[in-house]
Amino acid sequence: MWDLLLTNGVIITVDGEHHLYDKGYIGVEGDTIAAIGPMEELGERTAARVIDCKGHAILPGLVDGHGHGGHCLIRTLGEHLDDGWEEMAETIYYRCTDPEFWRAEGALAAAERLKFGTTTAVSMVGSTPRVDSILPVQANLEGSVATGIRQLSGIGSPYGAFPKVARTYREDGSFEDTVVTPEMAYKTTEEAVRTLNGRHKRMMCIVAPGRMGRRPDESDEANIRHNREMHRIAETYDVPLHTHAYGGDVQFMMDHTPEVLTPRLSLTHSTGYSQQELEILARTGPYVFHGPTTHANAVGHCPVQEMLEMGIHLAVVTDGTAGDRSFDLWRDMKNVQLFQRFRKRDGTLLPCGKVLELVTIEPARALGLDHLIGSLEVGKRADIIAVNVMQPHLAPFVMPVQRLVYHAMGQDVDLVIVDGQIAMEGRTLTQISEEKVLEDAARAFEKMISRLNRPEVMQNDKLYELRQ
Ligand SMILES: [Zn+2]
Repeated sequence: MWDLLLTNGVIITVDGEHHLYDKGYIGVEGDTIAAIGPMEELGERTAARVIDCKGHAILPGLVDGHGHGGHCLIRTLGEHLDDGWEEMAETIYYRCTDPEFWRAEGALAAAERLKFGTTTAVSMVGSTPRVDSILPVQANLEGSVATGIRQLSGIGSPYGAFPKVARTYREDGSFEDTVVTPEMAYKTTEEAVRTLNGRHKRMMCIVAPGRMGRRPDESDEANIRHNREMHRIAETYDVPLHTHAYGGDVQFMMDHTPEVLTPRLSLTHSTGYSQQELEILARTGPYVFHGPTTHANAVGHCPVQEMLEMGIHLAVVTDGTAGDRSFDLWRDMKNVQLFQRFRKRDGTLLPCGKVLELVTIEPARALGLDHLIGSLEVGKRADIIAVNVMQPHLAPFVMPVQRLVYHAMGQDVDLVIVDGQIAMEGRTLTQISEEKVLEDAARAFEKMISRLNRPEVMQNDKLYELRQ
């Protein structure tokens, strides 16, 4: 007898053969998919818990390859300020936070992602990582996994000018400032990856510097050392290397540290590359993590269609949450199609099945986890979501892949299973109190905003003008 059995669902496996069962079942034993197939093959087999998924589509849990720890408690703040959102975010993260902030935000972000059907989440902690201590990334990981999600959070050298000053608060509200150096970034990154892994089966600490390649605030020598160190730590502890990158960065890595360009490297945004850089990527195999809904994609250019045609590895990510976007990866599925079709004036590009792979098996591969997650197959982890399709915008439910990719949104997901454990049922999280997640988040927000002491970050009197 299995532990869990899902019956009567429309199952979209996203496996190599694109199996689809109009009326199928999935048997789960412990954390693993034990059997999957059409209902007529189920026979007498049953489970301790049986969930009838009639009126539901069943898919692999979505994999969001890039987001930021911290942003759920600063979203929309300061988007109208002249002195820049990035600077405000860095001030908040470096001067106004404590482990409770990172823990509460980690739980809030994971709750949002789970409720949109994301079962594996990647977060770079901070806008660009805070590196004076491992406590922010540790608290982010612990807060996240408490919700039931599979969480990969990372730190690495931040971008922007050094030295940075990090403020640590004591219990009595007093504080101490620490000058953060590049050396400290290497030391803290290695300490985090060494000590935080192996503690929990759904948690991984990865290497995630704010940028790799040629950071404009640093000398070539400093950038070469940075690229080497980040690569060395990722290799030593066998974890993914994940970062932001833009035009010129791939060429710089190729010229100075070609050893870092491997399929274990994922490069978020990847806007502004030269043709030569695209050819380097096609040859060496790093992943492009494309966020269609991001600010970077609005102001830059990532030639997704051309990249895919060249055989460049690519996944679609939210880069959430932020001023102007949520963690709803379903929206990114629509946007990546829309923007590529608009750009090329061709409504046939990026078919729905391909888009579904870009948010499941492709990011799983990029993270080195495709033997465990990213598709529904016997022997893989039971990371499964069910979408309620008995709703006006999805019924009658035919052509399942197109109906979901074109029409479903995050709120249509109503069952989420991670590692064989139910994390959400009937749109309510089951492993943590949602009320407590929201209360903790509100408390952490109040504390942070009083430390920041800049009321203008929440006041935008230009909101109804044509430009901010
Ligand atoms: Zn990002």
